[in-house]
Amino acid sequence: MNDPAAESEPLLCAGAPSAEPVIEALPVHASIVGDDMAVRRALPNKLRRRVGAWTFLDHYGPVTLAEKSRGMRVGPHPHIGLQTVSWLYAGEVLHRDSLGFKQLIRPGQLNLMTAGNGISHSEETPCPHAPDIHGLQFWIALPETRRHGEPVFDHYPQLPVMQRDGMRLTLVVGAGLGERSPARVYSPLTAFDVELGDSGTHMLPLDPGFEHAMLVIGGELSVEGKAMKLSALYYLGCGRERITLANDKPARAFLLGGVPFGEDVLLWWNFAARNTVEMAAARADWETHAARFGEVRGYDGPRLTAPELGTRLKTR
Ligand code: MN
Repeated sequence: MNDPAAESEPLLCAGAPSAEPVIEALPVHASIVGDDMAVRRALPNKLRRRVGAWTFLDHYGPVTLAEKSRGMRVGPHPHIGLQTVSWLYAGEVLHRDSLGFKQLIRPGQLNLMTAGNGISHSEETPCPHAPDIHGLQFWIALPETRRHGEPVFDHYPQLPVMQRDGMRLTLVVGAGLGERSPARVYSPLTAFDVELGDSGTHMLPLDPGFEHAMLVIGGELSVEGKAMKLSALYYLGCGRERITLANDKPARAFLLGGVPFGEDVLLWWNFAARNTVEMAAARADWETHAARFGEVRGYDGPRLTAPELGTRLKTR
């Protein structure tokens, strides 16, 4: 993903997590990705920059594409210092990257790209395509021990699915409920797709050492008796042994969590780094076609140009 409307100043993703359980509704704001894809950006957030190592979350759709629409089109662009996580509820996305991977992703599957020291990729709705688009795009900050390493791309066609207390749970990345996703991640974290059946009250055990947040994807549900709004992100804090969800009609949510991330992360454009010198070097390497970011082949369109890099650090 790429944010053409990105502000030029790097954003500091830091701050202490809530040590106690809380329920904070975080405002989600509208943005545009690629040519014209409307998204709701939940992270980074004015009130909470991150949840564990999760530093970026876009929710797009559900939308039904017009017959002649080309859908999502995000031209070749670079990443450093993070992993991208693509998760779909409807439609398909075709990924191409500078390692030579060309991979279609469908609902229930995971595309996980580890940028390390540098990679570039494009994302597009394939042609012909399904009429509907609906999905999530995340970034996970890489820790110091991994962020300078080699780039990797992984596709996981199947993930652990569990039935628990009236819920259908897919473990997308990390660990939870005694299971572990096969996806390679580099800090302790969790992510569940949560599908709630017709009606009921459901108890989901959590790791109290993690901070958690929940995004409502569809339908209506409550958390600890508090009604949750569609497409809003609810920060839940640390120290929870479990969470109680309730619904009257079928509903869907996404739970993410992780150990509070101990490193201050700087975000700018498509980069996660630790200082503006690293940012400037990555920007220059992209703009000069340095070998670091390789080349994406086969995308029918131009590569993206980096915006100017501001020198003033944005901390709020
Ligand atoms: Mn991207």
